[in-house]
Amino acid sequence: MDGRPLFLEPRLEPRLRSLVAATGTLHSLIDALGSPLHMVVPDQIAENLERFRSVYRAHHLSGQVFYAHKANRSSALLRRLAATDAGVDVASLGELQHALGAGFSADRIIATGPKNPEFLWLAARAGVTVGVDGVAELDQLGALVRKHALAPVRVLLRLSGFETSGVRVLSRRSRFGTPVRELEALLEAVERHGDAVEATGAAFHLDTTSVAEKATALEGCLAALEACRSRGLRPRAVDVGGGFGVSYLAEREQWEAYTTALTDAVLGRRPPLAWGGHGYGLRNESGTLRGALGLYPAHRPVAGAAYLDELLAQPAASLGGRPLAGLLLEHLYDLHTEPGRALLDQCGLTLAKVLEVREQENGTENGGELLVRLAAKADDIALEDHGVLMDPVVVPRSGAGPGEGPVAVHLFGSLCLETDLITRRTVFLPRRPVPGDLLAFANTAGYAMDFHATRAQHQPAARKVAAWQDGDGWRWCLDDQFWPITPSGGAQ
Ligand SMILES: *Cc1c(COP(=O)(O)O)cnc(C)c1O
Repeated sequence: MDGRPLFLEPRLEPRLRSLVAATGTLHSLIDALGSPLHMVVPDQIAENLERFRSVYRAHHLSGQVFYAHKANRSSALLRRLAATDAGVDVASLGELQHALGAGFSADRIIATGPKNPEFLWLAARAGVTVGVDGVAELDQLGALVRKHALAPVRVLLRLSGFETSGVRVLSRRSRFGTPVRELEALLEAVERHGDAVEATGAAFHLDTTSVAEKATALEGCLAALEACRSRGLRPRAVDVGGGFGVSYLAEREQWEAYTTALTDAVLGRRPPLAWGGHGYGLRNESGTLRGALGLYPAHRPVAGAAYLDELLAQPAASLGGRPLAGLLLEHLYDLHTEPGRALLDQCGLTLAKVLEVREQENGTENGGELLVRLAAKADDIALEDHGVLMDPVVVPRSGAGPGEGPVAVHLFGSLCLETDLITRRTVFLPRRPVPGDLLAFANTAGYAMDFHATRAQHQPAARKVAAWQDGDGWRWCLDDQFWPITPSGGAQ
């Protein structure tokens, strides 16, 4: 191993920390249900919701927190949320059916994303609010409501392409939503379908970490609501979408040391830090660093509910520099949010069993790291697909003492495919794992569990269990057996 180990230790809040430490429970679960295994912690999502609610309260704002269901298929998490006052944002027919079946009433559901006719019909029939992308979708919805003699449907108008002072386009292009410069045509369509739809507000969802970009979009929505009102429409909500983010790592210093070392490695100033010299978007063009780091900012000083707080405190440049929260309050507009990843922060982990640990035959080529093969496929632990770099925690088989360490390893999956690497990065572990140990990948509930999962090579997709604390111990059931009722479901 060259130089000091570069650890990227996960941020673990008390609940997840306690679960990772429940060594006996984790091993008996793997023995019973196989590797890999996803574990979700439903009580945490209720706690995360409360953090968003407290930001609403601090700004005296009303409105709904809609959990973006697409980030995890879990029934347990959804049902636990159904037992709160949260809403849910569904993006497919299956997700809508799942939400209705988990106990969400129609007034707590919004339907977003691309919609097929069946999805649109069930949404309209059930009376959920529909986030519409443009004129074509309004036409489709209007026709459907009339044809089936349904009650008028509430719609949120999804906008995009927000600009500041008409010069610099601050928000990135999106394939969803209507560009604000085409707002008039959209509002004409709303009026044309006045018997079939009721526009209740404006919405956006920007996949960016930039608060300034979102503040511009929020201002753009406020302006759009004014345009609605001047036509005699009665909108009452702004929906700022999701993208509040998660801070995955415990230590900022580790993240900075890692990214600095990665740059040095790409420039050849130190040995490679990833399989085959991969640079995560960075490359060396005759001694000059090129490209852009394609990674999630794994340590974020402000994320989740705190990010919403920061957004609401932003001054509205075009509206007298007053904080955005004040403007919402003044108009008595509801604020809707659609957090996916942020509501799932600390809500689960993925376990994988170590099958094999061996030295490399050609020790020099890749730095002499150990090769560690796991009973899991890369798509079962999709952190890397989302650019999240974070170390797993070693959960020893037997109360193994301090073994040899630290060690540098490469983590391989169980497919016979050269590319089945759990991560391309060289991972530093505090001690050498042995077959039978488990690796616990923390904080995988947002997008890293089942969004990318396949059944390649007839290998089963990972099972999922829900776990909750009971006194000093942990109890569990299969994810789809979980209902938020005692004694089986943990929640009171
Ligand atoms: C994916 C998505 C979200 C959730 O995004 P996160 O980054 O997980 O918070 C919210 N709204 C819409 C419309 C989405 O497509």
